[in-house]
Amino acid sequence: MKLRGKPVQTKEFKDILLKQKIRILKSLGQLEETTENNLRGNASDTVGVPTHIAELGSDATEKDLEIDLTSSESNILQLIEDAMKKIDQKKYGVCEICHQPIPIKRLKAIPYAKYCIKCQNNIEKKENSG
Ligand SMILES: [Zn+2]
Repeated sequence: MKLRGKPVQTKEFKDILLKQKIRILKSLGQLEETTENNLRGNASDTVGVPTHIAELGSDATEKDLEIDLTSSESNILQLIEDAMKKIDQKKYGVCEICHQPIPIKRLKAIPYAKYCIKCQNNIEKKENSG
């Protein structure tokens, strides 16, 4: 039995991509402002945790030093954003070079993959040969 054009379960991948995005944003320290604002909005139900606003300042300078190490993560973040856009445009899971469907197995390993394995290998060969 042939199943041609079976749609990719994009809902599942959108969820995975969103989780990865949040994780990267957290590690980049970009999500903290928003979370902090949300917490301030719901400050009424404090569970007896004291808030030391002065300490937050010294914390931030230490985190600035970590940002340099995460440039590859911001690249991945860009790929994730592209992939999420493609889900909205119903173009997700299609190789950008040969326009063949990217195998689900590959998408599960790398949900933000832009190319099929064949094209990815070609790109890497070109990069290696200079
Ligand atoms: Zn391809």
